Amino acid sequence: MNVFSVYGCTQSGKTTTIEYIIRELKRRRYSVGSVKEIHNEEFKIDKEGTNTYRHKEAGSQLVTARGLFETDVLYQEMISLPEILKHYQHDYVVCEGVTDYNLPKILTGHSIEELEQRWSKGIFAISGRVAATMDEYRGVPVINVLDECDKLVDLIEEKVFHLLPDVDEACCSACGTNCRDFCDGLLKGIYKVEECVQQNKKVQVYIDGKSLDMVPFVQNIIKASVKGMLSQLDGYAKNSSIRIEISGE
Ligand code: SF4
Repeated sequence: MNVFSVYGCTQSGKTTTIEYIIRELKRRRYSVGSVKEIHNEEFKIDKEGTNTYRHKEAGSQLVTARGLFETDVLYQEMISLPEILKHYQHDYVVCEGVTDYNLPKILTGHSIEELEQRWSKGIFAISGRVAATMDEYRGVPVINVLDECDKLVDLIEEKVFHLLPDVDEACCSACGTNCRDFCDGLLKGIYKVEECVQQNKKVQVYIDGKSLDMVPFVQNIIKASVKGMLSQLDGYAKNSSIRIEISGE
């Protein structure tokens, strides 16, 4: 699953850029999902007085509205992007306005001033209203999605990769840098995905079939603990591969 974000100032062309990208990705026969980040503190789909609202008020922590043509799962909190993405199994997921996770990004803006205000690591393309006035900025291609959507989606196919880790530098710097700089370097061709230790995990833990992200420090603790216990048992051999399954009960 390849994930990227389109972000920028209000009315700078984010949603239009995303609409064009989704249509072109679909035309290329990819499956596509999307996530829209909403910064309005008042935003809530569920309204006071509805039956689902009453469920929530009574204490239900996860409410689902199951309709004939739409099903809405209403979490009572903001959840992290990796948590959200557990519900997706698409070739591409396009995020609108997500800036708090380690993702390749397309920046939209009206002007150079706006691009400067929002500049961050991991930008591989620029689009939106500013694309009518330039072709390149800070070495990054500026693409007008209205005329050159093909070119922008070619770049997405070339640059975007599956979700990278976003752990604190104190927990992992095994690739020689931190996760954000690694993502930026990956887009510039400085690193390869395989250089992230998370891609070559020696220890894998799945909970209900979903892989758990673990920095090397945690992987080493689990490995040392499990091997330490099992080494006391008959049948254990050094360097053997170990598989443990624990059922729900
Ligand atoms: S090796 Fe992977 S998890 Fe560790 S800092 Fe680099 S990118 Fe992040």
